[in-house]
Amino acid sequence: MWWNKNKKDEFLMTLKQELGEVESDVSLAKISYLKIGGLAQYYFGAKTKEDLIKSVRLARKLDLPHLVIGASSNLLFLDKGFQGLIIKNNYAAKDAIYINGSEVIAPSGIILLVLIKELGQKGLGGIEFLAPIPGTLGGAIVSAVEANKKEIKNFLVGVNVLDFNGEVKFVKKEKLGLKYRQSKLKGLAKARNYLKYPVILEAKLKLMPRSKEEVERLVQSVFLMRQKSQPQGISLGCTFKNPKIEFDKHSFPDEAISNGRVSCGYLLDKGINFKGKKIGRIQLSKIHANFFINLGGAKSDHYLKLVEEVKEKVKEKYNLDLKEEIEIIEN
Ligand SMILES: Cc1cc2nc3c(=O)[nH]c(=O)nc-3n(C[C@H](O)[C@H](O)[C@H](O)COP(=O)(O)OP(=O)(O)OC[C@H]3O[C@@H](n4cnc5c(N)ncnc54)[C@H](O)[C@@H]3O)c2cc1C
Repeated sequence: MWWNKNKKDEFLMTLKQELGEVESDVSLAKISYLKIGGLAQYYFGAKTKEDLIKSVRLARKLDLPHLVIGASSNLLFLDKGFQGLIIKNNYAAKDAIYINGSEVIAPSGIILLVLIKELGQKGLGGIEFLAPIPGTLGGAIVSAVEANKKEIKNFLVGVNVLDFNGEVKFVKKEKLGLKYRQSKLKGLAKARNYLKYPVILEAKLKLMPRSKEEVERLVQSVFLMRQKSQPQGISLGCTFKNPKIEFDKHSFPDEAISNGRVSCGYLLDKGINFKGKKIGRIQLSKIHANFFINLGGAKSDHYLKLVEEVKEKVKEKYNLDLKEEIEIIEN
């Protein structure tokens, strides 16, 4: 109903009255991490916890599709845009970090690197391996991030969420279903037509004592490691999850296998020889083919076409079904 012009203006007026600075027809190609996407009908930057709660409650009350995003570093928006409200989580103030011994409560919108550095100043560490991941704390938990075979879940105690009923409550990590690149929250917004899903406000972490110098040293070393293995350019990181393999049916070199999964980098590069393949302005990186690079001005259609071609080829050659690690935002 909100694509009718009058209704659209009416919604905008209500959103502005309640939230203040709400924009309309915002280019997702301008504001998203991957720089792809049409227009977001409405856009709101939530600077505080109260902003976040208020905007989500309001969108729910108006029955307005809405999506809470962090840094959008795992999201592919489509060229047709998003019909509804994008809530950018900027709840990231350093003074909203509370430390009690080795336990930390941090705002969900804080960028991982900023959090790591801030905690390093206070003599706490352990999550330096997350430093090069360009996401927020909330997005990292939803996506169950891991790097160098270490997982965020091992440092997580639980999260404060705004639940389905609009109540704020603490949820222990065991209830979040965190496993390889998956959680109960990942994809839930889409499955619920972007209408009612829990939103992470804060996370409680358990870290370890570590000097500021040691934290800095570890951060630098993970960045150096990344520089050697990770392609430059705008991307969402890995497009596909590494698929599980059955050892009696498949044979891959040892270096392509980890934890019972075969690396997509190997499959897309050596396996189907798609390294450097390009459609429109999207190219599979020549360094790591699971990274789909936006060469500038790329379209979501081209990204999706490459996704389909890769899936078909891998299925044909290895009888493996690839699943996206990225989230495709569609409504
Ligand atoms: C260069 C590069 C390198 C990367 N390396 C890694 C890596 O090593 N390991 C890895 O696991 N991933 C990696 N990623 C993927 C990505 O960065 C992570 O998934 C990241 O944690 C996503 O965080 P975000 O804040 O950008 O979340 P977004 O992409 O904005 O959102 C992801 C999902 O979380 C939801 N969400 C976000 N915030 C909240 C909230 N507060 N409450 C409820 N739902 C929320 C969104 O609705 C969406 O469903 C990489 C990406 C890039 C671009």
